[in-house]
Amino acid sequence: MMSDRSKLFVTLMARLGLGAIPQSLIGGELCDGRGAAVTLEDPYSRLTLTQYADCDAELARTACECASNAQKIWMQDYSAAARGNVMQSIAGDVESNTETLAQLEALVAGKPLRDCRVEVSKVVEMFRYYAGWADKLHGEVIPVPSGHLNYTLREPLGVVFQITPWNAPVFTAGWQIAPAIATGNGVVIKPSELTPVTSVALVMLAEKAGLPNGLINVLAGLGPTAGDAAIAHDAIRKVVFVGSPETGRVVATSAGRALKPVVLELGGKSANIVFPDANLEAACRGAQAAIFSAAGQSCVAGSRLLVHQDIREQFLAMLELGMKKLVLGDPLDESTEVGPISNARQYRHVTDVIRKSSEDDGARVITGEPPHGEGFFVPPTILADLAPDSYAANQEIFGPVVTSLAFVDEDDAINIANSTDFGLAGAVWTADVGRAHRIAAAVHAGTFWINSYKAIHVSSPFGGSRSSGFGRSSGTDALMEYTSAKSVWIDTANTPRIAFGYSSDAPESH
Ligand code: NAD
Repeated sequence: MMSDRSKLFVTLMARLGLGAIPQSLIGGELCDGRGAAVTLEDPYSRLTLTQYADCDAELARTACECASNAQKIWMQDYSAAARGNVMQSIAGDVESNTETLAQLEALVAGKPLRDCRVEVSKVVEMFRYYAGWADKLHGEVIPVPSGHLNYTLREPLGVVFQITPWNAPVFTAGWQIAPAIATGNGVVIKPSELTPVTSVALVMLAEKAGLPNGLINVLAGLGPTAGDAAIAHDAIRKVVFVGSPETGRVVATSAGRALKPVVLELGGKSANIVFPDANLEAACRGAQAAIFSAAGQSCVAGSRLLVHQDIREQFLAMLELGMKKLVLGDPLDESTEVGPISNARQYRHVTDVIRKSSEDDGARVITGEPPHGEGFFVPPTILADLAPDSYAANQEIFGPVVTSLAFVDEDDAINIANSTDFGLAGAVWTADVGRAHRIAAAVHAGTFWINSYKAIHVSSPFGGSRSSGFGRSSGTDALMEYTSAKSVWIDTANTPRIAFGYSSDAPESH
């Protein structure tokens, strides 16, 4: 017999035009997979929501061909302005379906409904922002010294392959799809096998809004099968990977073998630094949001809390008080602030790290009670008194678990902040403007906040360095990632100057 949650799953899928079993979307058609069985488990009840078959390598290759054919239509039959108009219509259709998309995301990914609504609204914003860029992306005329007219064109790459994780599925799909199609590319996207359905729904909505069928293709299934086949396919010109550093290495190695460029948006271990002169109440609210929202399953989570030794115990007491007031519960409940961990594998990882930190590394564990029920709940947790080189202080936990470290002065704070392999994000809380800017400049991070945390916008570049990856998403940087420059030279002289060797060596150049 179907559980109420499975019935809700089927109802929400039907509202978005999808069948009860997750499928891939290829060339505008929903297709059944033919590979191994994948189970979607409700993180709140641990009951099975549904099962589906992995799309196999053959479907991945078909997806690449469909994207390649549709990309030619997108560039030849649509003006840049028309492409922008289609993207505006997509934004409108996604906006009208916000509630259903948000509920489906909350159910499958276990993320609180209030967060899912915000993430869908961000997708709308992303399509609107990049729709505006579709007819404003142009090259330049360069005053070369040889007397030639030299201009550049920004050209689409062709077809890009995007791989996304389970922690913010529809947000990440919109984040990568919008700049890719605004710049004229076709897309093959493979969401996490654990959360494929909202990405499929997003692309179905896009096709209904006027996007050529097959311009975007969604592969529902496992990483290695679809991943290897798509990366190796001739049509794929770039790979954009969002996920863990471990898988990022595998994907970048396969892409390197095929001589294809990659963007890697990987994990983090971001330092959130609090000085005694900060507004401590604001810093405490910021620290809470930084690590406990989305149950810490956010790449930019403020997972290392660096507090000046003079206020450390006072600040931890404030944080403990605040965290115990957070409402844990059913992601579909309006009042829930912290949901369960999204899946069984991640739940095992987070609970193992807490246990080992306590048993093996002597951590003082400060935590609240989990809500009753069967879900993958981990209560917000502080790990204090850990050595700076311990596992939990250095590795991404990706759960509602913050490691607290003390520092003595500004240099010490910077040294600790820069002591991991990551370089994704960070923050400082202080009333001293000069110190704030010094720390922002010194910390290895692609995004840094001063007296704030987790502010992001599609117009501002985002990305990391070192084990957090390379390349940039969002803003105009994403437009550059999804295009390449072509340099065109026209000889403007009455008598063509065909020199034997470089034309710029002609006398006009002196
Ligand atoms: P993951 O690396 O396990 O999986 C990510 C994706 O890679 C999934 O779609 C998976 O199916 C696919 N994959 C797995 N093996 C593959 C292979 N051999 N070839 C091709 N694809 C393969 O990551 P996850 O557990 O889904 O997500 C959590 C991680 O994502 C965390 O490390 C988090 O920090 C990171 N993340 C980073 C950002 C960012 O923007 N920097 C954003 C969100 C999440």
